[in-house]
Amino acid sequence: MYRGIYPGRFQPFHLGHMNVIKWGLERVDELIVLIGSAQESHTLSNPFTAGERIEMINGTLREQKIPADRVILIPIPDILMNGVWVYHVKMYVPKFNAVIARNPLVNRLFREADFDVLEPPLYNREKYNSTLIRKQIIISDPSWIEAVPEFVVKYVKLIGGDIRLKEIAGTDKPLERK
Ligand code: NAP
Repeated sequence: MYRGIYPGRFQPFHLGHMNVIKWGLERVDELIVLIGSAQESHTLSNPFTAGERIEMINGTLREQKIPADRVILIPIPDILMNGVWVYHVKMYVPKFNAVIARNPLVNRLFREADFDVLEPPLYNREKYNSTLIRKQIIISDPSWIEAVPEFVVKYVKLIGGDIRLKEIAGTDKPLERK
């Protein structure tokens, strides 16, 4: 069994992340999606709780008919010491062989710990970008709906995630678009 982990914050989970999961599943038998910064929520950079991010990913995997026995979702809080982060991750997850990531810090830390590093291609970064999606939600720009899976659109609206983001940003009025 060749197992990979895919770390991310998924704030929110978008179609770029979904494509990385599909890319990863072509290369590993089982994929652990590591929901990083699990302690964070209700901020501009990290509006959603770890539980809400699990729901977004789970619902999308079901919608995409990805077999549940091939993906494991594990939330993990950050720690202050990058040098021991890989050991911290190892405590939370079943044994794995490879990391799937583009983040240079993440790749370096796992390479130093002798794991295989699989770097996925970039999928439509201009649209599939969490920072941009959060901004679009805040200014009521509907473009974000095209950048996330259908399930995530429904889920964000169901939990009032759009309203939460606008409140955190200090406005619920549409702002001028670029
Ligand atoms: P992210 O922004 O949610 O992205 C997750 C991964 O998906 C990244 O590799 C990202 O690549 C990739 N991605 C995003 N959009 C993509 C697209 N359109 N096409 C292809 N790939 C795409 O999460 P992240 O910030 O990298 O998550 C790393 C997590 O590890 C964080 O929670 C961080 O706090 C945690 N961490 C913790 C420690 C510690 O506790 N000391 C140390 C290291 C990392 P890009 O990098 O190119 O965006």
